[in-house]
Amino acid sequence: MSINPKRTVDELKELRALTGDENGAQRVAWTDTWLKARDWFESKLQALPVEHHFDAAGNRWVTLPGASEKALMIGGHLDSVPNGGWLDGCLDVLAGLEVLRRFAEEYGGRPPVTIRLVDWADEEGARFGRSLLGSSAFAGTHSIEADRSRKDRDGIRLEDALRRCGVEIDRFPEAGREQKNAAAYIELHIEQGPVLEGLGLPLAAVLGTKGVERHAITFHGQEAHSGSTPMKVRRDALAAAAKLALEIRAIAGKHPDAVCTMGSLKTFPGIVTAVVGRCETALDQRDLDAAVLARMLKEAREASERFASEEKCTVEWSRIWNIEPVPFHPELIDLCEQAIRETAVVAHRLPSGPLHDAAEVARAGIPVVMMFVQSLQGISHNKIEDTKEEHIELSVLALDRLADKAVKWIQSR
Ligand SMILES: [Zn+2]
Repeated sequence: MSINPKRTVDELKELRALTGDENGAQRVAWTDTWLKARDWFESKLQALPVEHHFDAAGNRWVTLPGASEKALMIGGHLDSVPNGGWLDGCLDVLAGLEVLRRFAEEYGGRPPVTIRLVDWADEEGARFGRSLLGSSAFAGTHSIEADRSRKDRDGIRLEDALRRCGVEIDRFPEAGREQKNAAAYIELHIEQGPVLEGLGLPLAAVLGTKGVERHAITFHGQEAHSGSTPMKVRRDALAAAAKLALEIRAIAGKHPDAVCTMGSLKTFPGIVTAVVGRCETALDQRDLDAAVLARMLKEAREASERFASEEKCTVEWSRIWNIEPVPFHPELIDLCEQAIRETAVVAHRLPSGPLHDAAEVARAGIPVVMMFVQSLQGISHNKIEDTKEEHIELSVLALDRLADKAVKWIQSR
């Protein structure tokens, strides 16, 4: 008996039946359903020669001690968005569990290096709007004061919701202790996008998570009567915004993996009988290369000023949020690609648009790589999220291969 990927598929279905309903997965972090999922997961650990505990941020650590204290970490998250899919996050945890079982069995409970499986707390940020909560506490990138008094839709404070689950936000920094002996981190995840399906490939090595520049951009023109104001003299803020909305395609189009999205637009006064005097938009730009990201930002700014002046308007920018790109470890990316080739013949490399816990681990200076498995129709955070079972099984096998390679890599360093 070795790795058994069918068991992973069965366990995913078991978890879906236990914590989902007709609208999808309901394992929102810090809720009873999430705790139920975590209890169910704990029951799976009973037969294994492992130690497990929660750290100060509520991340669960399962440790199979090895001959060396240096640890290979495998991570994922059992929490989901409301009405989520059956694979996002929990595939990572349950595939990791299967790999852990294989190591325990193959080495009689004592692998060459320590193997640690982590179920991160609140990856999704679905309830309080703060993603990567547990992994950022681990990485030391978290700011307690910024999050303490966040509230959910019912007005419950983050601090209180955590306390109900036995987690004190003031103790978050202690989660950093789990970094001790961490030598490498690997994470399997569904792609959540359409690229692999488009290529007809099951698996890819992930190069890193893209950096994000997110800005509010407001165009100011002049409100004026729709009937009496000649076209030539209008100062139409929407016209300037509309030009920018099209131009960002050309700006992103110069770079193979860059994306730019103007996902929100509000017009004022917002009636058909008035020329738009003010138009508020928001722009999200992403790329894995910091220089590309900086160039795209500069080009979008320049374009916005050009379009504002063409429309006799003005424009102002303010940053909503940004995060730097997080490239993964080049040697681990190579090992991931090898593992995929040995399992599925053809490998692909791509950056991740969504953020993942792996990015926080990388920010802590730990060598990291992720593997993506194809998503059907690129859909995620939705009950129709799906991946072919044969691809799920392949992904478990490939993760297992990658774990083996990573163990040897750790031993060689
Ligand atoms: Zn996820």
